[in-house]
Amino acid sequence: MIQRFDLHTHTYYSDGEGSVQDSVDKGVERGLALLAVTDHFDEPLPHRISKEQLEELIEIVKGKAYPIPVLLGVETGIEGAVPPLLEKDVDLIIRSVHYLRKPVKAVSPYDPSYWEAYKNEVLDLLQKPGDVAGHIEGYLPLPLGDMKTTFDERRAMEREIAEKYFDREWQEAVAKTAAQNRIAIEIHSFTKTPRIDFIRLCQQYGCLFSVGSDAHPTENIGKIDWAFEVIEDLKIPKEQLLPYAKGWL
Ligand SMILES: [Zn+2]
Ligand SMILES: [Zn+2]
Repeated sequence: MIQRFDLHTHTYYSDGEGSVQDSVDKGVERGLALLAVTDHFDEPLPHRISKEQLEELIEIVKGKAYPIPVLLGVETGIEGAVPPLLEKDVDLIIRSVHYLRKPVKAVSPYDPSYWEAYKNEVLDLLQKPGDVAGHIEGYLPLPLGDMKTTFDERRAMEREIAEKYFDREWQEAVAKTAAQNRIAIEIHSFTKTPRIDFIRLCQQYGCLFSVGSDAHPTENIGKIDWAFEVIEDLKIPKEQLLPYAKGWL
């Protein structure tokens, strides 16, 4: 049987809501066998942890025995790098695209040149040291300008953009690079991304997979049903799941 794990969660150290202990308590309640705390450690983002806060988090996560194993991770964009002295204490690096390093002026949220740049950014991120490629096709850095949108409207826009621009050729390049560099593709439960066909393609290329709730409110820790349904439906074997490949489970 595959044990449940959630390798993408936030605490109040960045833009989450609860403490590490709150996350662990909720994770245990939801039947997790493994949890990772992965706050934003990413210079250009407004809600991010500092080097000092990362040190504090290392203390909290490593300095105490919890009822389930707890990993200390960070979520970072391409610019964010873990300071060399702290590398040994950081178990997990999630690379997510929250912004484009080289800003591209978009004339609309559907500007093709902007999404070309996003696609290259994802491919570039897969060349950096890391363990997980976070929310590919989800939580896109939408160039909204002054547009007012709701959460659901943004998710609908993302699906439209994915259909329109995230073609098979790019998906194959992502799958191939991720498999080569042993970077797990995140099955992002909260946004239900990437799309199933994309996940299937990654599976065929022999990619590893991670699962994340990307919980910000404590209540969302361990809300990973969708991801585990996908794993079951596609019959993704344990060996292709990051915690098993790494020997964490
Ligand atoms: Zn993110
Ligand atoms: Zn996140």
